[in-house]
Amino acid sequence: MSHIVQETVTRGAAESRTRDVAVIVEGLSRRFGTGPLVLDGLNLAIAPGSFVALLGRSGSGKSTFLRTLAGLDPVTEGSIARPRNVSVVFQEHRLLPWKRVWENVVLGQDGADRRDRAVTALEEVGLGHRVDAWPLTLSGGEAQRAALARALVREPEFLMLDEPFAALDALTRLKMQGLVSRLWERHRCAVLLVTHDVDEALLLADRAVVLERGNIRTDMTIPLARPRRHTDPGFEPLRATLLDALGVHWEKL
Ligand code: ADP
Ligand code: MG
Repeated sequence: MSHIVQETVTRGAAESRTRDVAVIVEGLSRRFGTGPLVLDGLNLAIAPGSFVALLGRSGSGKSTFLRTLAGLDPVTEGSIARPRNVSVVFQEHRLLPWKRVWENVVLGQDGADRRDRAVTALEEVGLGHRVDAWPLTLSGGEAQRAALARALVREPEFLMLDEPFAALDALTRLKMQGLVSRLWERHRCAVLLVTHDVDEALLLADRAVVLERGNIRTDMTIPLARPRRHTDPGFEPLRATLLDALGVHWEKL
């Protein structure tokens, strides 16, 4: 796996230790202008092929962290080592309306087989019948499937998803969760999924981390067998632990 170290502001010995990890974040801090630190000395290592859910209250810095990891935001202080091939899926699909779906999927990619690769990726996410459609004619769920295809066609070693299903209705969200789970089992890239949904984290991830006051305050393994259901034994205690870490206490609701 080839790694790059982005903007190492402090000493970062990260690169020499990246053989067993897909991503290493060390002492990452970030503020906007003269505002308070949004990320405050954050450390996180993600194993190759593992599925990590990142939770935290609204405004806790999840999106800032993801953008920084993706190289879209500058590092104020600290170091990040990550694979060269990364993809991001956002809450909104970000498809260009004047390009057909398949063209959006392989946007910026070269090669005579562009269309074939787009079709393969679209078939994989269940959109084989919408290859030539215009983005504006897609439903919300279909547009997110296209965004997933666009991410996967780049064969990322590290896939980041920022609340990708938050705007979808409950049934579509369930279907998308199933799809992401199957895609991950097939591709086995490392995944960082930002979600505010505790059940989503428990259904999909190996590990849940909670961002609070600029750092990871809870780091929990999810040792449940797959495929998972909400009714599985062991689900409820993990849910209680995570809700507690998020500061949600049922008796006070
Ligand atoms: P989350 O994704 O967890 O809801 P964000 O990362 O979007 O949180 O935001 C974390 C904090 O950083 C918030 O206080 C937000 O107001 C601030 N913030 C995010 N983006 C910007 C920006 N471009 N300029 C100034 N402040 C920002
Ligand atoms: Mg966010």
